[in-house]
Amino acid sequence: MITYGRQTIDKSDLRAIKSVIYSDWLTMGPKIEEFESEIYKVCGAENFVVTSGTAALHCAYAAIDLKPGDEVITPPLTFIATQSTAMHFGAKIRFADIDTKTGNIDPKSAELLINEKTKAITVVDFAGHPADLDAFRKICDEYGLFLIEDAAHSIGSTHKNRPVGSIADLTTFSFFPTKNFTTGEGGAVSSKNSDLLDIARKFGRQGLVRDPKKFKNDTDGRWHQEVHKIGLNYRLPDILCALGISQIKRIQIFKNIRSEIYSFYNDSLKDIAEIQLPFRENYANPMWHLYPIRIKDGSRNKFYEYLWNQDIRVQVNYVPAYFHPVFQENGYKKGLCPISEEFYSQEISLPIHPSLRKKDLNKIVKVIKQYFGYK
Ligand SMILES: *Cc1c(COP(=O)(O)O)cnc(C)c1O
Repeated sequence: MITYGRQTIDKSDLRAIKSVIYSDWLTMGPKIEEFESEIYKVCGAENFVVTSGTAALHCAYAAIDLKPGDEVITPPLTFIATQSTAMHFGAKIRFADIDTKTGNIDPKSAELLINEKTKAITVVDFAGHPADLDAFRKICDEYGLFLIEDAAHSIGSTHKNRPVGSIADLTTFSFFPTKNFTTGEGGAVSSKNSDLLDIARKFGRQGLVRDPKKFKNDTDGRWHQEVHKIGLNYRLPDILCALGISQIKRIQIFKNIRSEIYSFYNDSLKDIAEIQLPFRENYANPMWHLYPIRIKDGSRNKFYEYLWNQDIRVQVNYVPAYFHPVFQENGYKKGLCPISEEFYSQEISLPIHPSLRKKDLNKIVKVIKQYFGYK
């Protein structure tokens, strides 16, 4: 069976985990900082690790002090965590439509939704392709908004040669097995703004204050610690940090393989009139997390079943978020973002990950050509 995404694990990963499992520190140990410094090398900013991409988003929204009544603008073409973590703070979600070429949130559509309640715009780097970050920086500066980047797909990508993670006010990553590298479950938050990053980190560490200079109470001894604002436990254990260190050291290899698969599909499928291939803006050097194609003859559902029956487990990214009953039952109507809905109705993500073999790729292309009647 061929899957659209999966982890790539080798013996060095196993050795890394083993070295920690017998150590003094299963969690809260030295592997955390070591992993964070490896992430720094890739994303170009200070960061901290958490237990998932969802946790990372939750911490990012905590950092901007999101409150009931605040509004956050997001695209619907994403995983629900982009929205759900903001909704946990009582914020209202406004959906901006996407740019039909990249699948990323459209700056013009987002700008139209801004009002006095708007607190942040959360962009999603769909398929690993960075959003139009310059346009969003300009809009956010003009209206005094926070720019959050859900980079669950795009660690390892760059925008005008700047690494994803070093550009938005806060960037969030996921290390789920299908993502660009994995810790099983895991994630991180990065920011060049140390104040924002401190608040976000504290939220993910139970709100605990351990710096004596910041204590409000008198201390009785070394054990003293304080909570000024409540948080949650989103600590990533050392066992998983060790796996992450081992994985992230191979990120350039993973990126190269993903690029080769991307080029292979581009070359092999370019003559099929019924398929629209993914688009890349000149400013973007993506680490391709997905290979999203569009089926233009209206047969997406049939094509999906056809591939499924050939043991090719493609994916559809994404059902527009506001199709979920939790939105539909609260007044969000279908038709809200027509470009996203059209994109969804045509989209299929072909398998792309470093564990695919040449023979898998040849089979996928052959089967696709057969379906559309090409040789
Ligand atoms: C995977 C993903 C998340 C959530 O990450 P988890 O690690 O699964 O919690 C958030 N946003 C997007 C766009 C994702 O693809």
